[in-house]
Amino acid sequence: MQDRRKFIHTFVRGGLLTGVTLLGGFLVLRDKDGEFCGLDGHCSKCDKSSTCSLSPAAHFRQSVWQLDPSKCIQCGRCATECVMTLSAVKCTHVYAMCGYCDLCGGYLKPDIKTISTAAENQLCPTNAIRRKYIEEPFFEYEIDEALCIGCGKCVKGCSAFGNGSLQLQVRHDRCVNCNECSIARNCPSEAFSRVPASSPYLLNGIDQDSTKKI
Ligand code: SF4
Ligand code: SF4
Ligand code: SF4
Repeated sequence: MQDRRKFIHTFVRGGLLTGVTLLGGFLVLRDKDGEFCGLDGHCSKCDKSSTCSLSPAAHFRQSVWQLDPSKCIQCGRCATECVMTLSAVKCTHVYAMCGYCDLCGGYLKPDIKTISTAAENQLCPTNAIRRKYIEEPFFEYEIDEALCIGCGKCVKGCSAFGNGSLQLQVRHDRCVNCNECSIARNCPSEAFSRVPASSPYLLNGIDQDSTKKI
């Protein structure tokens, strides 16, 4: 137990920073030269505006769609209803909440015989979750966003057997900010709402003040 506390102190504090930084990364967009743009809904037309490759929707967004993970029941429609070919909704790992569990309910199918990284043991249909050994008995789980389809299976598993550190979020570097979001229209739990672009993310179970400082 002492080891666990030490681990939580060392790695999870680091994880908090990593997770928050990651979310901070969602709030910035790249211009065509690959440089970061600080646009967060208040584009004031910088000196690169004539060559900027951001979509018009990204330029002028004053408000965005937000997914409230506390309302989400992981129905699967975020994966199928988005207008994007690969959904703009992705699983986000809130490292600050993660227990770095060996037996991770978001990574492993519930009925496996042995804990291993074998493809048949993994809950994710696209193998989008990477498992990395940290130190006995802790493992870190990372989402490969390019593979994530936003199906929510891992989120459901983590909520049922873990502490809910895996959460679905609308990723605003991918979302084209439809006036009428087709997921919102079809969401059975009304988890989508329109919010100011300056505070696009709502995390469940974490101090929101820490994310506002990003
Ligand atoms: S449609 Fe709504 S309930 Fe279903 S996975 Fe998406 S946010 Fe969750
Ligand atoms: S289980 Fe679904 S939501 Fe979770 S990482 Fe895999 S594709 Fe994404
Ligand atoms: S606003 Fe459009 S692109 Fe964004 S999540 Fe909804 S359907 Fe997908």
